[in-house]
Amino acid sequence: MSARMIDGKAFAAGLRARVAEHVAALAAEHGIVPGLAVVLVGEDPASAVYVRNKGVQTREAGMASFEHRLPADTPEAELLALIARLNADPAVHGILVQLPLPGRMDATRVITAIDPAKDVDGFHILNVGLLGTGQRAMVPCTPLGCLMMLRDHLGSLAGLNAVVVGRSNIVGKPMAQLLLGDSCTVTLAHSRTRDLPAVCRQADILVAAVGRAEMIRGDWVKPGATVIDVGINRVERDGKARLVGDVRFDEVSAVAGAITPVPGGVGPMTIACLLANTLSACCRAAGLPEPRGLTA
Ligand code: NDP
Repeated sequence: MSARMIDGKAFAAGLRARVAEHVAALAAEHGIVPGLAVVLVGEDPASAVYVRNKGVQTREAGMASFEHRLPADTPEAELLALIARLNADPAVHGILVQLPLPGRMDATRVITAIDPAKDVDGFHILNVGLLGTGQRAMVPCTPLGCLMMLRDHLGSLAGLNAVVVGRSNIVGKPMAQLLLGDSCTVTLAHSRTRDLPAVCRQADILVAAVGRAEMIRGDWVKPGATVIDVGINRVERDGKARLVGDVRFDEVSAVAGAITPVPGGVGPMTIACLLANTLSACCRAAGLPEPRGLTA
C-alpha cells in the first residue's frame, strides 16, 4: 500500500471534541444547551442502532437528546403533528427523522414539514436550494464529513478535477454541490455514465457513493488521487460477515495518494457532522456567531 490512510475515526473524534468544547462554552456564557430530537418510526434494526448511537454521541457532546419512537403503523398525520410540536419547541434546535420511513409514508411530505432552520439532515427542499445557489444552508452530514476530510488532507480544492460516482439526494448530489462550491471541476457519474473507468481516471478527487461492493478497481484510479469511499456494503468472506466499501481497497490503495478505509473512514464522520449541524442550528437560532470550521 502506498496511499496515505485518511483516518475518519480519529478525525470524527477530533470534531466531536471541538463540538463539545463549543457546547460547554455556550452553556457557561449564555446558559444555552443545544438539543437534537431524533424520530424513529418502526423497528428497522439498522435504524434502531443508528438512532441509539446518535443519542449516545449527542449526550457525550453535552447536548440534550430527545428520542421519539413511534410504532410502524403510526398514521402519517400523527408523525406530522409530532414534527409541528418539535418545530415549536425552543429546547429543540435540530430535528432528524430517521429514514427509511415505512412504505405508506410520504418521506418528502414528512421532510418538508420540518422547520428548515432545524433540518440538521439538510434534506429539506429549502436547504437543498440554498446549497445549490451557494448560500448558507444546512448541509447533509455525510457529504459534509467528506468535504471536511478533503480540505484537511488537500488544503485548497480549487481547480481539481472531482468525480462523484452516485447521484442520490443524500450523498452524490450535495457532494457535487459542495465540491463545486470549493471550485473543483465536478463530474457527477451514475449508472448510465459511459465508460465509467475512463471518467474516474480523470479524477484528482474520486468520491464513490454507489452501494456496490468493491466496484471501483485499481486501474480506474489516477496515480496519486484522493479517494473517498462512502459505500457501506455487507458481504460474506470466508464464512464471516464483513463490511466493505465501493472501492477495492487493496488495489486502489496501491495507486491512490490517499484513501478512506471502510469501516473507519466516512462512516464515523456522519454522526459527528450531525452534532456540528445541531450546534450551528442552535447558534443561528440564538443569533450568536457560528463556530468556524464546523460547516461548509
Ligand atoms: P442510492 O442507492 O440512493 O444511490 C446509488 C447511486 O449509485 C445512484 O445514483 C446510482 O445511479 C448509482 N449507481 C448504481 N449502480 C451503479 C453503477 N454500476 N455504476 C455507476 N453508478 C451506479 O445510494 P446512497 O447514495 O444512499 O448510498 C450510496 C452508498 O453510500 C451505500 O453503500 C450507502 O450504504 C452508503 N452510505 C454511507 C453513509 C455513511 O455514513 N458512510 C451514509 C449514506 C450512504 P442511478 O441514479 O443512475 O440509479
